[in-house]
Amino acid sequence: MLMAKDQNNRYVSLLTLSRAELNEHKKKIYYCPCCTGRVFLKAGKVKMPHFAHAAHLTCDAASEGETEEHLLGKKTLYEWLEAQGYEVELEKYFSSFKQRADLFIRHNGKSFAIEFQCSIISLEDIRRRTRLYLKHDITPIWILSERHVKWKKRNGFMLSTFHWLSSSGTTLLPKLIAYSPKTSQFTILHQLTPFSERHVFAYPKIAHTQSLHFTELLNTSINYPLRNQLWLNKKQSWRLYSAAYATLDHLFFKALYDAGLSPATIPNECGIPVPYMHLYKTNAIQWQFWLYDKVLRKKNIGDLVSLGEWRSSLICCLKEEKIVLRYMPQAMVMNPFLPMEQYILMLEKLGILKREKNMYIYAKSIEPFKPSFLQKEDIFYQAVKQYYEELMVKANEIND
Ligand SMILES: [Zn+2]
Repeated sequence: MLMAKDQNNRYVSLLTLSRAELNEHKKKIYYCPCCTGRVFLKAGKVKMPHFAHAAHLTCDAASEGETEEHLLGKKTLYEWLEAQGYEVELEKYFSSFKQRADLFIRHNGKSFAIEFQCSIISLEDIRRRTRLYLKHDITPIWILSERHVKWKKRNGFMLSTFHWLSSSGTTLLPKLIAYSPKTSQFTILHQLTPFSERHVFAYPKIAHTQSLHFTELLNTSINYPLRNQLWLNKKQSWRLYSAAYATLDHLFFKALYDAGLSPATIPNECGIPVPYMHLYKTNAIQWQFWLYDKVLRKKNIGDLVSLGEWRSSLICCLKEEKIVLRYMPQAMVMNPFLPMEQYILMLEKLGILKREKNMYIYAKSIEPFKPSFLQKEDIFYQAVKQYYEELMVKANEIND
């Protein structure tokens, strides 16, 4: 902790004290603003000066064993915000819901709690903290330690449930914010686009605090082009290599074989990037196959398909856990139909479906993939790129 109360109930911030003053203050008695328990001012040679609870005390709000990285992160982020003219409250404690924010500011009449997260806390903790902030009209901004960002090649990242729970942005455009106090650099992963449960494409932006304004953390208007070639490469390697773990006791692969398909021959139309698809934890290849399998596979060209049919098929897949939702506490609307509706719009653009009033006609059949299609697959994903970007623009407009 960097804040405590003195015997006169006044706040003392360690960010404003000089070395000489620190030594003077060491002799005084301090209390935790959260639990009112006794805390001690530690100002040694190794770690940044900080307050620590007496060993026997347990405190709901304070993170014990606070690392140097966390202390330094709070300090440098505080200075970053203050330099931009914000009135920053360090370690603000909300007694009404017993939660302490690393930093708190107001911007454009809105309240923001900024949490610099260095350790992997339990998923239940993130959920609870996020929910409590939102309930009290405070927008939490989770900033992860840069150490938690795992880069793969070509703008691919490995993200876990912890990362997704810490994501911010909008329901349509989630992003992940990371920070390194050592280098004073932010790494922002914009527009998280998952290929699979863990492998996610994103648009990384690296910026030094000196060249980044706080509002950049809130910026959600960015709409990046789809890197269709990266997606296509991943899809092609999935075709080649997933057969290795495609056993028949695996629900998905069994259904695939029952449909007369295999990873190598899965249709182009199963595994298309569409807006909102991150709301499903299940990867696009699988959830789109499940919907194709339930809704279209046994239909003939010219048959009618109703939206109700799509919806009940999705509900069925959710119940059977063939499709699993991704829990994102920050997402304002958690409408499980959103990715599916975008998929239907995509199929319409690709000419597979034709809309007729409130119904769809199965207009062009979805074919198993043949290796001789390779050339065509390229063209297919060029079209997907264009349609995806059109759908994103439209979805973003609706969001505004
Ligand atoms: Zn305490």
